[in-house]
Amino acid sequence: MPVTAPPGVGHLRGAEPFPAAARQALADPQLRRNLGHATATIRAKSGAVIAEMPDWEQLRAAGSAIKADVLARLPELLEQVESRVTAAGGVVHWAADATEANRIVTELVAATGSDRVIKVKSMVTQEIGLNEALESAGITPVETDLAELIVQLGEDRPSHILVPAIHRNRAEVREIFLRAMPGVDPALTDEPAVLAAAARRYLRQTFLTTPVAVSGANFAVAETGTLAVVESEGNGRMCLTLPQTLITVMGVEKVVPTWRDLEVFLQLLPRASTGERMNPYTSMWTGVTPGDGPQAFHLVLLDNGRSAVLADEVGRQALHCIRCSACLNVCPVYERTGGHAYGSVYPGPIGAVLSPQLTGIADNASLPYASSLCGACYDACPVKINIPELLVHLRDQTPHPRAEAAAMAAAAYTMDHPALYATAQRAARSSRLLGRRGRGLPPPLSGWTASRDLPEPPAETFREWWSKR
Ligand code: SF4
Repeated sequence: MPVTAPPGVGHLRGAEPFPAAARQALADPQLRRNLGHATATIRAKSGAVIAEMPDWEQLRAAGSAIKADVLARLPELLEQVESRVTAAGGVVHWAADATEANRIVTELVAATGSDRVIKVKSMVTQEIGLNEALESAGITPVETDLAELIVQLGEDRPSHILVPAIHRNRAEVREIFLRAMPGVDPALTDEPAVLAAAARRYLRQTFLTTPVAVSGANFAVAETGTLAVVESEGNGRMCLTLPQTLITVMGVEKVVPTWRDLEVFLQLLPRASTGERMNPYTSMWTGVTPGDGPQAFHLVLLDNGRSAVLADEVGRQALHCIRCSACLNVCPVYERTGGHAYGSVYPGPIGAVLSPQLTGIADNASLPYASSLCGACYDACPVKINIPELLVHLRDQTPHPRAEAAAMAAAAYTMDHPALYATAQRAARSSRLLGRRGRGLPPPLSGWTASRDLPEPPAETFREWWSKR
């Protein structure tokens, strides 16, 4: 059987179920203001540039088809990546789970003699808890993406795939910098340009003096073994080109077969994520080029539960995800709770379907319910992942309360027996007389109607209306 991501390492499991964590988040009005403003801004920007594309729907269909093809022949494509990267002077490592990936990266960094690494923003290294693993080996990881740096200095957790510090406003960022950024000017203001300049000054020296970088990857092109990282700030380009050693950790699903396929995703991703026509920085490299860029390149291919996801023919579409975060920005649940409530590095609708599959449903059983099933995520997803379908599929696998299971079994039996069904309808109508109109169901079903209106039973059933005619 395929293994799931191991407990006790990485960040895929929360300390408490979603409803409890969400309740805390909902009590924070500042958080809701920050989230509401940020998601509305990104939505508007993204919607405008998507509207410019007459073939957006065809691009989405192409992206979806390419990903389905990749998953159908993943082993073959991964072996192709390995052989091309190796031929170009890189070294490929296979990591079954987070523990193994952390060990591989830590040993590689230790072998260089460096006690510090610079990092490109990467979801997968957060997933496996790489920073903690490096720190426990005496190696300091420095996040170089501005939002990741804010999260790291604030000893915080990311709450959005694309904008990890979306829950912070500029006054909070100023406080974090004043408290934790080495050498910061005490007269720092909360002007965005001033804050960015302070981060730039701090990071520049680190870029120039650190010999090892760790990155994730947005894509790997199987036909050439080329890796691609897209970003907006240029910090990624610095990390990918300045150090002597580059270590890239990549989830196995990030492969695309050919450069032509990459063209589709490089159009979909920026418009759906940052609302840009193209990513400001698209860095690509193939192995090692003598005299240019890092002279040692290691690629760590990570499973960490992905084989288990792949084994589920419905669930596997979660592996199509290109981490654009469009589904977060349109989700009414995410917009109110923020990312921390999901407990995993993958928040929002994609987190609600990916995290439970990576960990095994028992460890994240509340997440498939963190949705109103409104379908906005499906409409927004640039690779057409049917997230509502996945949510229902996963809900089916969660353990159900005994009362709910009994009620559903009784309903199924009743609907299967016409005479009993007619009697039940008459009984429901009598509830009008019993005065339950406008009120909820009695216990133990009262939870169902605590947040839903109970439809009023009609005065006449369809069967009665029909038989009169
Ligand atoms: S599920 Fe779709 S919309 Fe959500 S982050 Fe992934 S690619 Fe983007």
